This record gives sequence, structure tokens and C-alpha cells, in this order.
Amino acid sequence: MSFSALGLSEKILEGVKAMGYAEPTPIQLRAIPLILSGKDVIGSAQTGTGKTAAFALPILSKLVAHNAVGPRALILEPTRELAAQVETSVRDYARFTDLKTTVVFGGVGYGKQNDELKAGTDTVVATPGRLLDHLQQGTLRLDKVEYLVLDEADRMLDMGFLPDVRHIVEKCPRARHTALFSATVPPQIETLIQWAMHSPETIEIGARRTPAETVKHVIYPVSDSQKTDLLLELLKRVNYDSVIIFCRTKHGADRIAHTLKRENHAVCVLHSNRTQREREQALEGFRNGKFEVLVATDIAARGLDIADVSHVVNYDVPQHPEDYIHRIGRTGRAEAKGDAFTIMIAEDAAHVFAIERFISQKIPRVKLENFDYRYTALFEEAKPGAPQGFPGKAKAVRVRGGYHFAPGGRRR
Ligand code: AMP
Repeated sequence: MSFSALGLSEKILEGVKAMGYAEPTPIQLRAIPLILSGKDVIGSAQTGTGKTAAFALPILSKLVAHNAVGPRALILEPTRELAAQVETSVRDYARFTDLKTTVVFGGVGYGKQNDELKAGTDTVVATPGRLLDHLQQGTLRLDKVEYLVLDEADRMLDMGFLPDVRHIVEKCPRARHTALFSATVPPQIETLIQWAMHSPETIEIGARRTPAETVKHVIYPVSDSQKTDLLLELLKRVNYDSVIIFCRTKHGADRIAHTLKRENHAVCVLHSNRTQREREQALEGFRNGKFEVLVATDIAARGLDIADVSHVVNYDVPQHPEDYIHRIGRTGRAEAKGDAFTIMIAEDAAHVFAIERFISQKIPRVKLENFDYRYTALFEEAKPGAPQGFPGKAKAVRVRGGYHFAPGGRRR
């Protein structure tokens, strides 16, 4: 099935062609006709499935041409980075039209945003907080909004934005089309759906519960006091091109980045306490190879389209099982091979089991050869006969400077 059969406008099809997209992804195949026909849509697709184009292409097709009455499409995103990324995509798709796009987020001055809003724009991509500021200051009205997209709704809930989102939705006309994307649908999102949407159709394509097959993932159990040493040793032994290290807290991310810098790694940091400029520089530098290591928190890194990451390291085990999929989804993209390492301490056991249940897979436990391990109760999990006291049928495989206990003993 090609894009041209989906009913998109000619100008938008040209934009798609210029992007080099050969054929629609499954979520695009399902969502584009529904949105074009005016249906409200709930999508449980994740980033990397092409979900931005799935909602942006039909909406832009419907907007047709610039009209200075005020934004007719509003896309809400949980983070500034996602807002910036989605705005770039929208601009790209609309490049052969005269449609105007404005991005609105905090941490930067109001000047450019005010100018663009005043001049009249067709699509606003925004984070909730700054959008509310504009509404209060009267620099933006939403009474002409025909298309509303609530992207990464579960993440907006996690970040405490739901009351802001409600306020914003209340300012939009009732007669509008709404699309909502969320990896999970907890009760609060269900309530939002009931309240904000009209007979929505649900599309579950892309609700991936299994990690990409191109990713090899393993767990390194270690005692709490040796986490950082193990990380440093891993980075030394692994021939990485680019690695993202996920930490639970902003403070933890800063601390790890500091330690890695001392060890002469080219490191940048991404979390919500950094200034907008620092965040942009970090992403830009990581994308263009200036930095080989990006240390990030989940919230900052969620949904970012960062291609070609050779390794993902979970310095802290993710608290929500679906975050595991999101995190390791940064590597092994587009059939490229990737490795995902998770450092685990005794307190993480319950979270690791939750992840393994969620993905219906046991993640192999691995031990670094010649690393001076101190005792941890995790090493007692062993079944008799398993190599070096690790569970399961794993075989020890020699890798540069260490062993991986990979199922089937495939050489890495
Ligand atoms: P998203 O899930 O929207 O973050 O998109 C992930 C990546 O896939 C982005 O780099 C898009 O440019 C790309 N993409 C989206 N749709 C297609 C398509 N139909 N064919 C090829 N790449 C696509």
C-alpha cells in the first residue's frame, strides 16, 4: 500500500516523498484514513513507529492552506525536546504548502513565540505550561482549533500535566477532532478519553511489548557500591560508537556525567533541570557525534528520535516496565544491531521481574570477567551447573575482555 492511496493532499504527498518515506508504517496505514474521515483516534503506538506522521499528515492535508484566523491544529507534547522534534517533522511534511507552524515551550524567551502567534499560525506544537501562559497573557486563543493531538498522554500524566491539559482542552471548541497517543491507558487517561473524545477508534498497532529482535540485552548484577565501577569498566571494554546511559534521577545523571568526564569520555547530559540551551546543545552534539555518551533521565529522553545508538546502558533499572522497552528502543533501530545493558542491584529484583514478565522474556544475567566483584546476594540466585553461578541455560561466551552468558552461546 502506498501513501498515494491513503487520501492525503497532493502537497503533503510531495512532502512525504521528499522525506524519502517509501511506504506507510502500520500505524500510518490505520490512523491516516481514520483521521482524514474525521474520527477521533486513540493510538497506543510508541515512538519509532512513525506515529508523528500518522497524525500530522492527515491533519496537514485537512488544513490545506494558510489561514491567519488562529491555530487550527494544536499538538500537546510532554517535553520541550519532543515539541521541538515534532515541530520539525510538521514543518518538513508541510514544506510544499504555505502552512505555518509555531513551537511553544518554556525555558526560552517569549519574543519569537509572540511574534509568530501574532502573525497568525496554522499549527501550534506546545508543552502545556508555556501554552497556558500564552492563554493567560492573551497572546494565543484556541477557539479556532479543529484538530487537537494529545501526544504521549501517559507521560503528561506522570509529569503532573493532566490538570493543565484539561484546562487547555476546555479552551478548545467542543466541535473538534481529537487524537490521543499513549503507551498505556491508566484510569486517569481513561477518564480524560471519556471526557475529551467523541466515540474514538482505538488503534493498537505498535504497542510493542517485545524488544526489537536486533537488540541483545543482558543484565549485570552487582553490589550497590560497585555500580559506577562496573559502568566504567563496561564502557572501557565495549567498543561503542554512541551510548545512552539512563539514570533514575537528575542528580544521579549529573553525578555519572561528572565521573565519566573525569575518565575522558565525551559526555553530555539531558534532564529537565538543564537550561533549554544546554538541552539543545546536548542533543545536537550527541546527534552529530561531538558527544559519544548521553546521560539522560527517562522523562528527558522519552520519545526522542535519536538514531544509530550502538549501546544503551540502564545505570538504574527503570521503575515502569514499559520504560524498559522505550529505553532499549533507542538502540537496534532500523535493523541496526544494538546492545542494551542493565545494571542491577539487589533492591532492583522486583522491578527486573516486572520487566521480564512484561516482555515475556528472561533477560540473561552476565558477569564481567576479571572485574573485582564484591559479594552481592544476587550471585546466590544460581541454579546448580549454571556457569559462574548464574541462572538459566546460558552459555559463557568470551567477548573482548569478558564473558557474556548469552542463551545458546552465540558469539558476539
Ligand atoms: P516517530 O515514531 O514519529 O518518532 O518516527 C520515527 C522515525 O521514523 C522518524 O525518523 C521518521 O522520520 C521516520 N518515519 C516515519 N514514517 C516513516 C515511513 N513511512 N517510512 C520511513 N520512515 C518513517
